[in-house]
Amino acid sequence: MLDGSKETIYALSTPAGRGGVAVIRVSGPAAVDCLTAFQVTSLPKPRVATRTVLRRKKDGVPVDDALILFFPGPNSFTGEDIIELHLHGGPAIIDAVQDILSACKGFRLAQPGEFTRRAFWNGKIDLVEAEGLVDLIEAETEAQRVQALRQLKGSLSALYEGWQKRLADQLALIELGLDFSDEGDVDEEDTGLDRDSMTGILHEMQAHLDDGRRGEIVRNGVRVAIIGAPNVGKSSLLNALARREAAIVSDIAGTTRDRVDIHLNLGGQAVIVTDTAGLRASEDVIEQEGIRRSLAAAAEADIVLVMGEYGEPDALPTPETHGGDPLVVWNKMDLSTGERPAGICISAKTGEGIPELEQELTTRVRSLALQSEAPVLTRARHREAITEATVRLEEVLQEKDSVLLAEHLRAAVAVLGRIIGKVDVEDLLDRIFRDFCIGK
Ligand code: GDP
Repeated sequence: MLDGSKETIYALSTPAGRGGVAVIRVSGPAAVDCLTAFQVTSLPKPRVATRTVLRRKKDGVPVDDALILFFPGPNSFTGEDIIELHLHGGPAIIDAVQDILSACKGFRLAQPGEFTRRAFWNGKIDLVEAEGLVDLIEAETEAQRVQALRQLKGSLSALYEGWQKRLADQLALIELGLDFSDEGDVDEEDTGLDRDSMTGILHEMQAHLDDGRRGEIVRNGVRVAIIGAPNVGKSSLLNALARREAAIVSDIAGTTRDRVDIHLNLGGQAVIVTDTAGLRASEDVIEQEGIRRSLAAAAEADIVLVMGEYGEPDALPTPETHGGDPLVVWNKMDLSTGERPAGICISAKTGEGIPELEQELTTRVRSLALQSEAPVLTRARHREAITEATVRLEEVLQEKDSVLLAEHLRAAVAVLGRIIGKVDVEDLLDRIFRDFCIGK
C-alpha cells in the first residue's frame, strides 16, 4: 500500500529531455529535509520563489543555480509539505539532483500518479476531479481542454455530490422512520418517501445519461468511418485528410484489410477517421475478416462517410451498412464529366472538393460534440455508475417495504459515492491512477 505512507516521494514533473527549465517535485513529511542535502541552510518563505545555489553536501560541488519553492502542507497540491526545485533543464543536472534525493533518508521515486493520489487521500480533490486533471494534461484540442478544466474545477463532482446528498438525506429520514416503527406507532404503508423529490432526481439522472454521449465524444474524439466499395479511393481520402501517407493506396482492389486510424483536429474537436476494407463479396478469408471489421467500424462510428465513384451512382453500399444519416461523398470527380450527383464531390487525387468536405465534417462534428454549460458525462465509468443509480432509484420508487426501500436507497447512495470516491474506493484507485505518469 502506497497511501498513508510516511515516505517522501520525488519525481521530475516536467517532460524528460532537454529544456529551459526542469521541475523536480518533492512531497511528504520529510520534504524540507532535502534542502540540507543540497547545503541549503534556510527554509525559503512559503510560496516565494527563492534563488539558491544547490551544492552536493559531501564535497560542496555546485549542482545548479536553481529556484526553490516551498508549499507547506496542508495548503499544497498533495496536502503534504512540498518542495519544488526549478532547475536548468539538462539531463546531467536532473540526474545529479535525483541522485542526491534518492540518498535522502525515507525518500523514494514517486509511482505514476502518486502526487495526485496523495492529493486525493488528503481530501484535496475527489476522484472525478482527479480524472479531470489527467484529461486536462492529455487534452489535445480546445474542446477537450475546456471540458477537462471544468471537470477539474469540480462542476461534475458538485452535480454527483448534490444527488448523493439529497438521497442520503432521504435515507436518513427513512431510517429514522424505521427506528420509530419499532415502537409500533407508524403507519406500515407510509414509508416516508418523498416521491416527488426522488422522481425529480431520477429524471435529472436520465437526462444526464441521455446527452448523446457529448462529453465522451469530446473526450475520446468523434469517430468517422469511411466505407465504400474497393478502389473508390477511401485510402486516398484518408491520406488527403491526414496530409500524409497514412494508408497504402493502390489500384489493386482489397489492399486495405485492417482498419487504419488517423487523428485530426477539426474546429477544435478531436476526430478519429478510420479507413476500412472495401465492401464486396470476397472468398479470401482475410479480406472477409477485413470487411467484418469495416462493418463493425461503421456501426461504432458517430459519422459514417459513404464513398462512391463519381459517374457510378449505383456502386454505393446499401443503407444497411451505414444506418441513419451518412455523409455521401463522390470521389474521382477529375475523371468524369457526367452529371454532378447529390452529395459532396471530391477528387482525393487533385484535392478538389476536400476543403468543402472538411467544412461539412466540421459542422457535423461540432453538432455532435456541442458544448453546453451544464456538466457532461465524460467517462464510461461514470455512465455505468449513474445507470446503476437510476436502476436502484426505480426500485426505490416501486418498493412498498420500508426496510427494502432503505436498502435500495443505500445502494444508490453508495454507487454515487463511488464515482466521487467517498466510499469503497480502494479497488478503483489503481484503475484511475495508472493513467497518470510519474511526476503527476
Ligand atoms: P480504396 O481501395 O477505396 O482505399 O482506394 P485507394 O485509395 O487505394 O485508390 C484506388 C485507386 O484509385 C488508386 O490507384 C488511386 O490512385 C486511385 N484514386 C483514388 N482517388 C482518386 C481520384 O480522386 N482520382 C483519380 N483519378 N484516381 C484516384
